[in-house]
Formats: sequence, structure tokens, C-alpha cells
Amino acid sequence: MQYRTFGKTGKMLSALGLGTMRFKTGEPNGFENAVGIAVEAIKQGVNYIDTSFGYLGGQAEKIAGEAVRRSGKDVYVTVKSNGLIDVSADACYKRICDSLKSMGLKKAHFFILWTVLSYDDFIKMTAAGGAYDGALRAKEEELVDHICMSAHAPPADIIKIMRTGKIEGVTISYSLLTPHIFEPVLRVAAELGVGVITMNSLGGGIIPQNPDVFSFARQDEDESAAAAALAWSYAHPQITTVLSGMTTIDELRENLRAFDKAENSDDSKKRIEAVNKSFSDISGFCTGCAYCSGCPAGIDIVSLMQAFNAIKFTSGISDYRRKGERLLENIRICFRLSMISNFMPSDAQNPCLQCGECEKKCTQRLPLIKRIDELYKRFDESAYSEKHIIERLKNIFTGNYKNIAFWSAGLYTKKVISYFQKLFPNQNADILIFDKNEKLWETLYNGIRVENPDRLLEIKPDIIVISNYVYSEEIYNDIKKYEKDGIQIVKIHAPEDVPWLF
Ligand code: SF4
Ligand code: SF4
Repeated sequence: MQYRTFGKTGKMLSALGLGTMRFKTGEPNGFENAVGIAVEAIKQGVNYIDTSFGYLGGQAEKIAGEAVRRSGKDVYVTVKSNGLIDVSADACYKRICDSLKSMGLKKAHFFILWTVLSYDDFIKMTAAGGAYDGALRAKEEELVDHICMSAHAPPADIIKIMRTGKIEGVTISYSLLTPHIFEPVLRVAAELGVGVITMNSLGGGIIPQNPDVFSFARQDEDESAAAAALAWSYAHPQITTVLSGMTTIDELRENLRAFDKAENSDDSKKRIEAVNKSFSDISGFCTGCAYCSGCPAGIDIVSLMQAFNAIKFTSGISDYRRKGERLLENIRICFRLSMISNFMPSDAQNPCLQCGECEKKCTQRLPLIKRIDELYKRFDESAYSEKHIIERLKNIFTGNYKNIAFWSAGLYTKKVISYFQKLFPNQNADILIFDKNEKLWETLYNGIRVENPDRLLEIKPDIIVISNYVYSEEIYNDIKKYEKDGIQIVKIHAPEDVPWLF
């Protein structure tokens, strides 16, 4: 295993980091298998585990804690809090304490301000009395060593955040699918001494599931496309650790092979150059070179075209439990958009003026006007715009309510509730959230009480809105029996929708 120093923290982190949100804990013996994989990873030199209270319904933290204990080694683990959910310093501090308790550890080395979507969000999270202050308190008490963040924000926003000097490390989405877009982030991070960890290095599964497309990244015939993608990420000297969520021992071994041979800087440079060249040779691909920038209609053509690349791939995106090739394509596109620039259009009207300026400048000679039109059609059919969210809510909330419940707690519901509150500012109904995660019961989630679903009939809300994408159908099947008790139950998503948040 190779190790690099993480920014200015002085900590040496392993090239491969263990992601914990993909373990198959729902399968028989799932918890034990996951701990086994994590222990083996540690044995092989992995010393960074990325986990969160929100992964696998709280199981991921328990897996991480158990693996650290069983291995008996010094391993760096994360605790996370999203500052728009844990809005106060107290809430964030409590989250850190709860996570440590859940893992059975006295300290976590890295606190991660989780899923920062924009510079504006970061400013809210770091305002006096906000989540960041809670993290500072935990740091003073030596519950955490370093304050970092994970971002799904546009690159320019990530750079602005790093320049505030408030974070010591950043976890960003970076893969062969977005080779150029995040390069400025890597460059500025190196200048400032901010450590960089990468996630989504396999493009959300797209790369291993499309090995032929990505064979250009392989250095020799024995190297798999997935291993090549990981090695390519690590070839960037600014990147300390490449995260990967491994679900089997075989996947772990394959990932380890990617870091088997230490490349010298010349080899790494050659690897990056070879990929850059091959990438621009793939017919019909947007390389992210950004020569098309400066659209008079303000369209972020680079982000849109990088997302359009996803149409070319088969499969990928299995976690959303949906079927149908067109819908899966739409999910892939919106997933990429969200990872690259957290982009959701305000409505599905294509703003392109068809001036043709971008097409004249495109180095790949891509039919940009046609592609942008196609994308907006797909946003419309899959309800991926702010206007769609608002229309959906207007259609759902047509009555007078005393009690409104959302199901389940999470960033997704937070997004839906914030639209609801903007749309119905004079609504006097009590709002609550039902969630099966008992750790959340009786707590305030973004200021809203989370209840045990066993209290459903006692509370008897007028309406329950299922604001969960992945398990929408299962939740509905579980609770539809309460319709006969006069409770209206509505799924917020139609079958053809893509998620509104990734
Ligand atoms: S053709 Fe459309 S997308 Fe291209 S520069 Fe003109 S307005 Fe922008
Ligand atoms: S110029 Fe063409 S290839 Fe380059 S980023 Fe724009 S659309 Fe992509």
C-alpha cells in the first residue's frame, strides 16, 4: 500500500480508502461479511474509513467501529454532519458524539461537513452558532482532529470554500468521466495545502460496467478498467486517497491491485497524458475542455455535455431500484449533473438561443444545440426541474391540514419540505417526519420532530407524503393499510421520475 500526507494535517493516508455505503447489509450474514471485508482491507494497509450515521441506516458506522476494534490497528475514521440538517452548533456536536458512541470509539480523526452543495450553503453552515462551531467544539475536546468537507458543489464554489481557510481537507467526486472539470480544484488545493480525497472514482459503477469503453485507460492487458480508473485517480499527486465502496473480498483484492505497483512521477504523468489523449479520441464524447464556455443564454454547456456522455454507457446506476433503459439513462444524466455541478434547471424550458457560437468552438465538433434540446426533453419527461417539484407539491397539498407527515428523514425530505414551506408560507399544520431509524426518534431533524412509525395511528396525520425515492414503493406497501383509517397517503414520485437529489 502506498501512503501520502493529507494536506497540512500531517497524517499519512493510504492510497485506497474504504467507502462504507455499499455494503450489502440486507443480505443474510451481511453485517459480518461487511466487517470481514473491512478488517481484511485494514490488514492490507487501508487506514482510512469513510463512514456516516446516514449510511445503511446507521449500520455503516457500526461496521466501521467493529472493524477497527477487531483489527487492533490505528485507523482513521470519519464522522459527518450536514450543517443544513444539524443547523445549530449543539446539533452538530451531538451528532459527532452520537456517531462516536455508535462506532464505540473515543475519537474520530476527521470530521466531515457532509454534502456541501454550494458556497452559499457553506456560508450558512459556518455562520456563528452553526454546525461548524459544533465541530470546532468537538475539535477542542479532541473528539475529532481535523475539520474537512465533502462537496457536490460546482468546482468554482469548492475553490471559494477552500480559500476561506476553514477546512483542512476536501472529498470530491472525481473520475475518468470528469477529467478536466475538477483539475482547477486539485491545483488550488495543492497551492493551499488542502488535502484531497476522491469519491465516485468508478463513476458510480459506470466504469466497471462499461469496461470496453474505458479500456483506453488500461496500462496493460492484466489491468481491469476499474483498476485503471483507480490508478489514474491516484496518478494525480494532489490526491491523497481514492475511496472505493467494496462489497466483496474479490472487489477489495481487485482494488488493491490498482495500487500494487508504486508509479514514479513520470509514469503517473504518462498515465494521465495517455488518458487525456484517448478520451478526446472517443467519438462523440465531451472531454470537458471548456472551449465552448461563454454561452449568451448562461447555459453551463460543459456540465450538460459531461452529463450527456452518460447516455453512451450501458447499465450503471443500479442503486435506485428502477427499470427501463430510458429511465436509467435519465437517472445517469441527472446523477452526473448533480455530481459535476449540483445542477437542476428551474424549469424544463430549453433556454438555448440557437446562436451556434458554442458549436463553432467545440473541439469535438459535437452537435451541442441538438444535445441540449434532448437533455431538456429528458428533464421534462423525468420531472427534473424546480418547476416540477413545485407543481407536484401543489397537486398533492390541495386541502386544509392539521397534521402533515413526511416519510422518511434525510436530505431528500429536507429538500421537499423546504419547497413546501416556500410554497405554503401560511400553512399552520403541524409537520412531522416518520422514520424507521430509532436513533432519530424524538429528535429534531432540521427543526422538525421525527416520530416512531409505531405511533402513526396515535398521531393520525391527515396526510403522509412519501418523500423517499428509492424505497417509495416498499414504504407505500407497508403503510397503505392506514388509508382505511382516513389517512391520505401519497407518493411524491411518479414511476418515470428521476431523483431530485443524489
Ligand atoms: S447555441 Fe445555445 S447553448 Fe450554444 S452558445 Fe448559443 S445559446 Fe448557448
Ligand atoms: S468544447 Fe465541446 S468537448 Fe469541450 S467542453 Fe465544450 S462541449 Fe465538451
